[in-house]
Amino acid sequence: MAPTSSTQPNHSPRLAVAGMAGLAIAQVAIVRLAVAGLAISGLGLGLGLGLGTATGARAQAWAAGSDPLTGPRARYSKDWIGVRPVEPTTEILVMAGHSDSQGVGGAGTGGAAASLYGARPMQIGITDELFWNLLTAQEVVRLGQARGLKIRFYDPLQRSIANGNDPRTTWSVGKAHVDQGGYALEIHYDAYGRDGVGSGLIPPINKPLNQIDESLAKAFGAYPQFFRDGLGAPKRGIAILEIGKLEGSLENALRNPQTRIASLQAIATRVVDALAAGLGATSLPISPQPDVARSDQ
Ligand SMILES: [Zn+2]
Repeated sequence: MAPTSSTQPNHSPRLAVAGMAGLAIAQVAIVRLAVAGLAISGLGLGLGLGLGTATGARAQAWAAGSDPLTGPRARYSKDWIGVRPVEPTTEILVMAGHSDSQGVGGAGTGGAAASLYGARPMQIGITDELFWNLLTAQEVVRLGQARGLKIRFYDPLQRSIANGNDPRTTWSVGKAHVDQGGYALEIHYDAYGRDGVGSGLIPPINKPLNQIDESLAKAFGAYPQFFRDGLGAPKRGIAILEIGKLEGSLENALRNPQTRIASLQAIATRVVDALAAGLGATSLPISPQPDVARSDQ
């Protein structure tokens, strides 16, 4: 989520094709890494934060609300609790934030690399946030389906829909899904710098909050329920998950081809673990503190 982007995308032939096709091809690499037990520790090294080295002031800083992969959590007091039980068979709809609002307001953050430091945007025509929202959402669905969850992805494909209530928008499709008893989630990355807040769940505001909301907040942190007086998605019953601010170590880990797949997989695993725990479908543990990137699935 971000107010605006001042970035003028430059065409980037090499990176423009780095969508899911690139991700799928790169799965071979992640499998090799995972087999070697290096997928996540490799990422840790890439971040300069080897696992098990959280000591002293650095460890205290993490415990206070930062994560070695996703960065700072939203520094708000959680003013809600999700206690409503959820049927284990609840269908989860995952969407990429801003996937229908490019160029029509609310396009998402351009990210610090492209907006501040002159890096090429990841793909012409869309913000870097949408680029990563799409890859992250798709990886969440891929891993969730592999885990046996009833989970699917919705992409409007039309990237600029001026009317938020158009039936093709994520807002409309998500609302319909929630009205039918499902759980709908938009994946976002937050703005860099002072405009951004950090990782956390912005829960729905038009219905009782449930154990999936609670579980995601445990894994990523929480925003107040009425953040900014209620955003478009939460007003329609759709939860917003801010993965982290698109800057610094997180953005570097995503942009670096050496750590991209491991980063996306670590993030998606954290989301799927939280969804599964919220559904009560498994007894998967949720890390109470985001002090290490998980590598157990
Ligand atoms: Zn966003």
